[in-house]
Amino acid sequence: MPSLPSRLLGALAFLLFIARPAPAIAQQAPALRLYTLDCGHAEFQDFAAASDTGAYDGRKAVLADPCFLIHHPKGWLLWDAGLPPQLPAALAGLPGFRVWHERSLAEQLAAIGLRPEQVGYLAFSHLHFDHVGNAALFDRATWILQRAEVDWAERSPAPVSMLPELFAGYRKATVRWIDGDADVFGDGSVRILKAPGHTPGSSVLLLRLPQQGAVLLSGDLYLTLEGRLEHHVPAVNADRAATLASMQRIEQIAQRLHARLIIQHAPEDFERLPRPPAYWE
Ligand SMILES: [Zn+2]
Repeated sequence: MPSLPSRLLGALAFLLFIARPAPAIAQQAPALRLYTLDCGHAEFQDFAAASDTGAYDGRKAVLADPCFLIHHPKGWLLWDAGLPPQLPAALAGLPGFRVWHERSLAEQLAAIGLRPEQVGYLAFSHLHFDHVGNAALFDRATWILQRAEVDWAERSPAPVSMLPELFAGYRKATVRWIDGDADVFGDGSVRILKAPGHTPGSSVLLLRLPQQGAVLLSGDLYLTLEGRLEHHVPAVNADRAATLASMQRIEQIAQRLHARLIIQHAPEDFERLPRPPAYWE
């Protein structure tokens, strides 16, 4: 019969074993690639809307608006669909606001040897018009949607910066509804992390790339490099306290995983990323 101390040790080991939560994020990375596509740029003569503290009042700004294409052994995922090729009249006429595209999204997919219908999954950091502009190209994909985001985006009257016609394609597509975090391919390598505040269903994408390591695509959690340092909350924002809490969560994850955080609208981050056919892996 085992001695009392060894039985205690055994019980303790058992407790530790059963009490240990399943690893939230897998350690081993499958073959993954991250492509960065240019889905437009925007210029503001006055970027006041980027902070509710007045930090950007009177300051000019140029924003990148990338789409990200992820190749996983189980399929292709597009994260965010950029600015619409044609701005709706209401936005095109706004003074001090200009949008341009250098290349179409379809053209950039072709450079990778891909047609839109080969993209199997579509997910968004949130549904503002500058993140869903090309969504209609992907009506054959499975759309991964935060329920809270769609509920909010389809309210009447539409919240500022929401143009429901741009993401209406989900009605005819296959939809995977999510409420919070989601593991896209079931192996921890591509995870959607809920980061509400900017909008109720705002999310960040966490990738575990085999060479580059952990990468966070931060959606509109931050709009500028300075905004990350100063915790700027945009003037157009659904919930200030939730935004600050999301920043805290994502920063803790970034720190724990030594992740590279990409601020999607920051031209500085965009310029550092390779262009197709080059990619990160
Ligand atoms: Zn936004």
